[in-house]
Amino acid sequence: MPNSSTSSPPPLRTAGQQLRRRSWAEPWKIKMVEPIRLTTADQRAAALTAAGYNTFLLRSEDVYIDLLTDSGTSAMSDWQWAGLMLGDEAYAGSKNFYHLEDTVRRHYGYRHLIPTHQGRGAEHILSQILIRPGDTVPGNMYFTTTRYHQEHAGARFVDVVIDAAHDPADPHPFKGNVDLAKLEHVLTTAERVPYVCLAATVNMAGGQPVSLANARAVRELCSRHGVPVMLDATRAVENAWFIKCREPGCADRTCADILREFCSYTDGCTMSGKKDPLVNIGGWLSLNDDALADKARNLVVVYEGLHTYGGMAGRDMEAMARGIEESVQDDHMRARVGQVEYLGELLQSAGVPIVVPVGGHAIYLDARRFYPDMPQDQFPAQMLAAELYLDAGVRAMERGIVSAGRDVRTGQHHFPKLELVRLTIPRRVYTQAHMDVVAESVEAVYHQPRKPRGLRMVYEPEYLRFFQARFEPI
Ligand SMILES: *Cc1c(COP(=O)(O)O)cnc(C)c1O
Repeated sequence: MPNSSTSSPPPLRTAGQQLRRRSWAEPWKIKMVEPIRLTTADQRAAALTAAGYNTFLLRSEDVYIDLLTDSGTSAMSDWQWAGLMLGDEAYAGSKNFYHLEDTVRRHYGYRHLIPTHQGRGAEHILSQILIRPGDTVPGNMYFTTTRYHQEHAGARFVDVVIDAAHDPADPHPFKGNVDLAKLEHVLTTAERVPYVCLAATVNMAGGQPVSLANARAVRELCSRHGVPVMLDATRAVENAWFIKCREPGCADRTCADILREFCSYTDGCTMSGKKDPLVNIGGWLSLNDDALADKARNLVVVYEGLHTYGGMAGRDMEAMARGIEESVQDDHMRARVGQVEYLGELLQSAGVPIVVPVGGHAIYLDARRFYPDMPQDQFPAQMLAAELYLDAGVRAMERGIVSAGRDVRTGQHHFPKLELVRLTIPRRVYTQAHMDVVAESVEAVYHQPRKPRGLRMVYEPEYLRFFQARFEPI
């Protein structure tokens, strides 16, 4: 399976003492399969029209290889499935809650665990208990639901990620890092900053990591200003893997060990269990502060459920506790990030413009360079995602002007620097052959002799429009 230069076994010495690269394979074998089918070009054209050129509105049955998202699409292990049978479905005090609480404490290190139905549930609670109207929340690039909840609570989001994050060709190894000067400026000029939002990895920049040194520096700067740091821990284990591979002095440490140190620089986290923790639904809010945790536990009963289940069944909490345990294993992360890297290498060697370095959960195609003549308000990334589906039934997601939404004050589109299409790799789901098919399809679309015209938006929902907007070709 994926050959990768990162953390492969030691090179093999042949008789002639030449170095030969050694392959490694996933640390699992397949026990159960789910059939998928390739549709005809006519069927795909009809499905795309019915979906208003929005890949979120396609039926999954019409998709061959589904790279829409890595959210809730992971394959669970036999140990996780066995855990489902041990669900304690008591309304209050389920033993699975205590197992989850213990697992989160052990690996993430926070004192309090408040379960939620998924990540945005935790974002909602955190925003409501910390933000007052007129506040400013700095963060290393926005995320759609995170920023929505911050703004909904009355805050203004300010991006403090380093400039390199906005340049798809900049090879910086930690493109998710916070620009400390930008952050200091916000901390000294804003009227009130309730907390700093630190995301690791940074989804919207291409799954780019934050270094340990940067997290430590953010902590020090925020402590001087008396401002807490809240981690978006959604892919913090993938972030730890990058630290192990790229940060000086970390190569011999385990992911689990790095994760603990990283989290120790923050005061709490929001978590989507649908990413790193290898489950199909779930999430949590973690906090170290006792009084704040009481507030959160009080609010969670209003929106999610009692504070010992927060919208999850007992069996879901058990599967998540076990998923966390598996997710922090180095062997798992080597295969997970290694598969993304494999697809990235195929595309780069075919000359396809992608965001570099390749991030943890996805490949991001640079749609501007696929369609250099298409204006951004004719949605080049949306069009590219549609063309990929038409070519071979691969489903991807727009991460450009549609996802960026409108400015809440002026009502104008945000015009993000990055106009990307995301090929997101579910965990433990597809094989190397699937990656080969995807790479060939992307290459075919990139070299299409006749470029499509842009799209026009014919329906725009008020919130998080990328999920449900509809389009027509111009
Ligand atoms: C998915 C995600 C969220 C929201 O989590 P949900 O479980 O989808 O509600 C928040 N932040 C980041 C970085 C994410 O990728």
